[in-house]
Amino acid sequence: MESPKETSQPANKSSTTEGDQEEQCCPNASCEKNGDQDPPSPKQGDFSDPVYKEIAMANGAINRMNRDEMRAKCVELKLDSRGVKDVLRKRLKSYYKRQKLMHSTAADGNGHAYFDYICVVDFEATCEENNPPDYLHEIIEFPIVLIHTRTLEIVDSFQEYVKPVVNPKLSEFCVKLTGISQKMVDEAKTFDQVLKRAVSWLQEKELGTKYKYTFLTDGSWDMGKFLRTQCKLSQIRFPQFARKWINIRKSYGNFYKVARTQTKLICMLENLGMQYDGRPHSGLDDSRNIARIAIHMLKDGCQLRVNECMHSGELRSVPISAPIEGALAPQMPKKRD
Ligand code: AMP
Ligand code: MG
Repeated sequence: MESPKETSQPANKSSTTEGDQEEQCCPNASCEKNGDQDPPSPKQGDFSDPVYKEIAMANGAINRMNRDEMRAKCVELKLDSRGVKDVLRKRLKSYYKRQKLMHSTAADGNGHAYFDYICVVDFEATCEENNPPDYLHEIIEFPIVLIHTRTLEIVDSFQEYVKPVVNPKLSEFCVKLTGISQKMVDEAKTFDQVLKRAVSWLQEKELGTKYKYTFLTDGSWDMGKFLRTQCKLSQIRFPQFARKWINIRKSYGNFYKVARTQTKLICMLENLGMQYDGRPHSGLDDSRNIARIAIHMLKDGCQLRVNECMHSGELRSVPISAPIEGALAPQMPKKRD
């Protein structure tokens, strides 16, 4: 059975409502309505520098290797040797590129993460076995997993269940899928109260003030559909600080050059040589596993750029040419008029 997350865009992505009118992710509208992000490449580096010829030659040699040769090379270089061919190829290319640029004047900052922290969010929501297109998903679990990009470790997490208000009774299917019981949501706070706690948690970490950070999700649905719908139901504006994020599926597809069909959570993990750890469709476990993928990608040299945003109530792609900015300091959004 296909999860609604398997579709890449929120079903209601094009409907702009009055309440969304002023909400923009970027004042200069540098986001794009359609299209995808290009794979990262050196931008300001001097391509006439001989180091780029060396990198191209190393890439050619890697392209000619089979999987066993790539694995053996990874072992020799003391790199992780797990993963499918596409992953090993990218890992080796990134390694040589980093090594060569490190010793070159053409280095343009490659190898440094853009953010101090990345907050992985994976909402769980009310659902039916076959959700009709206009089904109103209400958020029932709000997890955040915090990655420190310097140590490449999960350093903290936040988790609260949320009481649904429009459809307070969970379907049997939803309980089975998410492992979230009726009692858990009955005893939980409503979304606006939980969001307030999440904002305080983010503020305590000094994110957006002392530290540069951004959000990261598995697909477009968490922010583009679940959070957007929930904010409308809770009559609050979409939080400014959550307007831009990294959609790891896009980053993964672009970085390892694999088809979108290979960017489902379990598939990404398996192709990196890892297994899902925990209970699938638990928001916190999903977030932890997504974080494991992100950490792997950072280790493989991917810089994880923001690639999606909400702009005037619509989901948009953020092009690679957009300036790299961290998320705004978290603040509780205003009530809708
Ligand atoms: P996930 O992060 O994949 O666990 O999915 C997030 C939310 O999407 C779940 O809490 C459900 O509301 C919904 N969902 C996921 N998979 C399915 C499915 N197979 N059928 C119906 N709804 C689903
Ligand atoms: Mg989930």
